[in-house]
Amino acid sequence: MNTAITPQKATGEPTAIILPTPDTIFLARAERFEALALHHGLGEWLGFLGRLTHAQHKALEAAGEELAAPAAETLERAREHRMPPLSVATFQRPVVWHDILRNIVGDLLEDAPVGARDTLDALLVTSAEELDKLAEKLLNGEPEGADMARLPYIAAAMQVVFTAVASKLDASALPPMEAHSACPVCGSHPVVSVIRSEGPTAGRRYVHCSLCNTEWHVPHATCVTCGDRDKITLHEIDGDDGIAHAESCGACESYTKLIVQPKNVRVDPVADDLASVALDMLVDDAGFVRSEPNYLLIGAAEE
Ligand SMILES: [Zn+2]
Ligand SMILES: [Zn+2]
Repeated sequence: MNTAITPQKATGEPTAIILPTPDTIFLARAERFEALALHHGLGEWLGFLGRLTHAQHKALEAAGEELAAPAAETLERAREHRMPPLSVATFQRPVVWHDILRNIVGDLLEDAPVGARDTLDALLVTSAEELDKLAEKLLNGEPEGADMARLPYIAAAMQVVFTAVASKLDASALPPMEAHSACPVCGSHPVVSVIRSEGPTAGRRYVHCSLCNTEWHVPHATCVTCGDRDKITLHEIDGDDGIAHAESCGACESYTKLIVQPKNVRVDPVADDLASVALDMLVDDAGFVRSEPNYLLIGAAEE
């Protein structure tokens, strides 16, 4: 436990929302997974997730043009009602997502570990109707035990779709959200928060969407879940590299991971979150409940 993060002073009003950069988001994440996999007890798994993420990059490159921003009237309606324009509850998933999923699965099958092969084979012959049901359960329902093994791949395809469409929006036209815990683009929860190291946002804390990779500003030492500022405690693992911290809140008893980019400019919210699951165990043991999902971790407990 410590309170030693003293962020650099940033001046002026912070940029409220940073949309994802589709050309590099998954590519940089894949490289980070590969780097983390080299010296890690969970290296094989992280390496596999690196290949999955690289497949996301290729799938986005192939399908990105077909994924258009919503019509102007949809965006206007969202603004009027202060709703995220790509709300997971209402967004019409474009049919091309089935191809995106098959591309990702096809790529992975070339070099898949035995444990994943059956699931990947099954996904290739799953009907479009069943795939749509799985996506609906992932985003808006209660996934069941039998679905779990397939969901990380469904989630990977959904991340590609939502990231591509999010990147085509105008950040300055998005309605501000009242809660820190809802993405202003798709309404999902963030995966972690990041203290950024470069450019005009250096030293600021942004939370990173678990689905569409949008980031939005939340002030330091503020609970992402309930907004409390008085009962915040930072935790880290002694002797660790200082990249991953957990910010727990005594008011709502939840915690959010905090990835410190000034420690390593190449950190990635999704990859560094999964490389620091030991920290989650530490904070879980202290009685706090993680407030945010990491879609690539869905089903891991079931296997
Ligand atoms: Zn989002
Ligand atoms: Zn709280």
